[in-house]
Amino acid sequence: MTPPIVADFRAGLIRGELLVQKCNSCGKFNMYPRYACPHCQSESLGWQKASGKGVLHSFTILRLGPPEGFENELPYALGVVKLDEGVQLLGRLVPDADGEWKSYKCDERVEFAPMSAEHAEKRPCAWFKHAKT
Ligand SMILES: [Zn+2]
Repeated sequence: MTPPIVADFRAGLIRGELLVQKCNSCGKFNMYPRYACPHCQSESLGWQKASGKGVLHSFTILRLGPPEGFENELPYALGVVKLDEGVQLLGRLVPDADGEWKSYKCDERVEFAPMSAEHAEKRPCAWFKHAKT
């Protein structure tokens, strides 16, 4: 059962779009989504397609001790991405051709990398890769 607050975000991923919550009252972006805007307390919140571009603030590679249900996905990389819209989110990083992430560096530009609808339904998170320069 998908929690209603993330239903639109997940539907966007399945369509290949990265959505960020936007306040209809003050126009500011919120991420993660909230039930009330942290800037103006309005409960009138919508979604907007993000540029998908941002900066890789930090990342880590999980090789051991994954959360339950993720055992078959090791290793994988999780990164905090600061989107150009001014909000940040946690996402997965597309590995290099060798299956590792040695080419990634903090503070580099990354961009949203849509996964297949099937993949997005199974594991609804945003993926990022190196931004094309
Ligand atoms: Zn607001």
